[in-house]
Amino acid sequence: MSVADETADAVVVGGGTVGAWCAYFLRRAGLARVVLIEKGFLGQGATSRAAGVVRMQGGTPEAVRLGQWSRQFYLSQRDEIGTDSGFTEQGYLLPCFTEAEVAAAHERMAMQTGLGVPVRWLDSGEVDAANPTLAPGQTLGGTFCAQDGYITPPRNVAAYTVALIRSGVEVREHVAFGGLTASGVDTSQGPIDAGLVVLTGGPKLAAVGRLAGLRIPAGGARHQIAVTERHPDLDPARVPMVFDLAAGLYWRPEEGGLLFGMSNPDEPPGENREVDEGYLAKMRARLAALVPVTAGLGLRRLWAATIDYTPDHLPIIGRAPGADRVTVACAGGAGMMWGPGVARAAADVALTGSSDVLDTSQLGLDRFDEAGHSRLATDPIALPFPERIASS
Ligand SMILES: Cc1cc2nc3c(=O)[nH]c(=O)nc-3n(C[C@H](O)[C@H](O)[C@H](O)COP(=O)(O)OP(=O)(O)OC[C@H]3O[C@@H](n4cnc5c(N)ncnc54)[C@H](O)[C@@H]3O)c2cc1C
Repeated sequence: MSVADETADAVVVGGGTVGAWCAYFLRRAGLARVVLIEKGFLGQGATSRAAGVVRMQGGTPEAVRLGQWSRQFYLSQRDEIGTDSGFTEQGYLLPCFTEAEVAAAHERMAMQTGLGVPVRWLDSGEVDAANPTLAPGQTLGGTFCAQDGYITPPRNVAAYTVALIRSGVEVREHVAFGGLTASGVDTSQGPIDAGLVVLTGGPKLAAVGRLAGLRIPAGGARHQIAVTERHPDLDPARVPMVFDLAAGLYWRPEEGGLLFGMSNPDEPPGENREVDEGYLAKMRARLAALVPVTAGLGLRRLWAATIDYTPDHLPIIGRAPGADRVTVACAGGAGMMWGPGVARAAADVALTGSSDVLDTSQLGLDRFDEAGHSRLATDPIALPFPERIASS
């Protein structure tokens, strides 16, 4: 079907969690005609391949706020749209292994509790008691938030598909964004006039930006996930989620086994969906040292996918410089824990220039210089993402 000569109040580019929830929020805000264009199918990007971790224990106030908002949204979904993204409150432990990490964790915790996050310090013995699968005596303690948890990424795609259809967003799969026109967007099926345009793209956002004539310092990097076989010791009641920040390794319960994710900080950025067996072996050794029961377990599932990132590991939410009708949105590799909050804030910014989700005034593209360096401090609680963009 041709979409030439169409008119919409807003066109959203990209059917991942950021674009889809943004289109839903724009429609819910009262726009009559919202069109979502996706060059493949809904959820085909990072969104369906994620681990689903949702954490309020952010490293900056913005990260905390987006985590809080998104978690609350996940909890409210069933009432709002009749289904949900499968949020499970599992509890999340960030252990410390050095005195420097302990000091940083206490500082962070003061910021987080000031913002209302129910995070607490567990000393070494309490960490072991709360986490019987962990090899005892390994940590100097850690921060723990019982209200952190995870969603099920495929359920999230199903939830936003339902939300889009119920709310009356017009979903166009297999329609690619080709660029901006004077009055809207160009697509692979013809132009659409639109008062507002929201650009998303996850790991492909820089390419979407180039089509729009914008330089967007966002990139992609390989991230791997594996799921172990089941084991009675890995019953969810015995396994809080854990983020071994220094190693860039995290895990959570999954179907009676452990799901663990990892990023190689030494790997150059770029799209990559091949499994890196060597790095997997390294992370399996680290996991086995901390959770000995995993040492002898086979893997039930294993995949690699490209994760989005920004150089300061913070989201991008802002209008394009010099083009007020165009808004750019990126979750910076945290689209499960921040996605709905980023999406709602982007919808608000597109409509009014600001948002009650959080203050977005520092989060636009204008925080980056020509080389993609940000004037903001890097979020310290993130995967070991690259701090530069592949092409820069
Ligand atoms: C392995 C892995 C594990 C992860 N685990 C977590 C986690 O535990 N917690 C967490 O918070 N985050 C996690 N993430 C990150 C999270 O998945 C992403 O931040 C989030 O999915 C990004 O959503 P998005 O909508 O911006 O991008 P995407 O989901 O990639 O969607 C962008 C869409 O834009 C489309 N598109 C691109 N170009 C065009 C074009 N020209 N025209 C039309 N459409 C276009 C793409 O096809 C794609 O569907 C993980 C990511 C990966 C890969």
